[in-house]
Amino acid sequence: MAKTQPRECQPCTGCCDGWLQIVVEGKPVYPGKPCHHSTGSGCDDYENRPVDPCRQFVCGWRMTDSPLPEWMKPSNAKVIVLFDQTQWRGMAVDVAVPVGRRIPPRALQWLQQFAQTHHRALLYSEQNVVDGKFSNRQSAHAYGPPEFQQEIAERMQSGMPLW
Ligand code: SF4
Ligand code: SF4
Repeated sequence: MAKTQPRECQPCTGCCDGWLQIVVEGKPVYPGKPCHHSTGSGCDDYENRPVDPCRQFVCGWRMTDSPLPEWMKPSNAKVIVLFDQTQWRGMAVDVAVPVGRRIPPRALQWLQQFAQTHHRALLYSEQNVVDGKFSNRQSAHAYGPPEFQQEIAERMQSGMPLW
């Protein structure tokens, strides 16, 4: 059922914890290096949070009319979904980032089924671990038509941005 009221973040802090690999006020935020404003349960300066990336960020679970079910809350499903990040041959492309090393199978299956049912494509990532610690690097995977997967593989090989 479509959601008409924004959902509450608490107790999720996924986007402030670095899983999205953002830069806040010039400081890189990545897994193991949360935002300097993060208290671990919220933002210490929420009213003054920057436009880019904080105010511009549209969390796929929290957005109005999100198609994601309740259980796909990032703190529960261990994935942050960003809808409509780009297009491929007229097809909407969604992006999914794990909260942890990999997107758990149940959540990934839901996203793949959603993409298939709605004729969308999906890019999803895996966090790279170096010496037993999360790094600021990710590897990406593509789900969708074979030509889409091929194109993404070629872009990755040549170091081109994926979206
Ligand atoms: S990932 Fe989504 S639900 Fe979690 S804190 Fe960020 S906006 Fe809120
Ligand atoms: S400034 Fe606040 S809202 Fe933005 S990433 Fe940091 S803790 Fe999160």
